[in-house]
Amino acid sequence: MLIDSHCHLDYFTPLELPLVLERAHAAGVAEMVTIGTSMAQSAKLPPITEAFPQVWCTVGVHPHHAAEAPIPSPETLADMTRHPRVIGIGESGLDYFYDRSPRDVQAENFRANIRGAQLAGVPLAIHARDADDDIAMILREETGRGGTFAFLLHCFSSTRALAEAALELGGFISFSGILTFPRSSELREIARDIPLDRLLVETDAPYLAPVPFRGKRNEPGYVAHTAKVLAELRGMTPEALASLTTANFRRLFPKTACG
Ligand SMILES: [Zn+2]
Repeated sequence: MLIDSHCHLDYFTPLELPLVLERAHAAGVAEMVTIGTSMAQSAKLPPITEAFPQVWCTVGVHPHHAAEAPIPSPETLADMTRHPRVIGIGESGLDYFYDRSPRDVQAENFRANIRGAQLAGVPLAIHARDADDDIAMILREETGRGGTFAFLLHCFSSTRALAEAALELGGFISFSGILTFPRSSELREIARDIPLDRLLVETDAPYLAPVPFRGKRNEPGYVAHTAKVLAELRGMTPEALASLTTANFRRLFPKTACG
């Protein structure tokens, strides 16, 4: 079985969602995590997890939405993780590619999400785009200030230097459909070198569908295609890669192990 460690199920209509989940089940994707991107949107995710037992969620504020509403306090974020199916905080981070929020606000928001994760003792899903140096700096500073915390770099498409900084801090690295794109040879080189016990897979659905669905709307069932490419890169069978990434997921998200 596979787990899609990062998707956005709130993009699917209530009519589509059961069919999307059926197709995921048929593709061997047993569980998935639907991700918080703003406070208002995060509040709507626990009900999805109550309706569908294979779905977990996180709560948090994406850098794109950092300036739209007051930045939540770490305590507020931590409180929201008391729900048994809220397994992490995020996605949060820095996005200097789109720069949809001022960079100082993105940084303040990122730190609040990190501190929420530290306070709650749950992992943080990190969004990093064209901001590698600042992501690494903030991760180091916040680790020094509040102690180590679990995290993953979601939809990894950054530099080897950021992967190494994250690994050094105990982080996990999650690969999306980008890994399957013909031009991603540099990314595949990095994926070859990540320690096996830190690897995860995800779709980031509805975005970034893997080959052979590139350009179409993505959905959790398609994570099998990314996992297949990763298995080939690592010289493993798809079954072994699925077991490995599932075990890694349970270690990173311990709340899913006692569910
Ligand atoms: Zn993201």
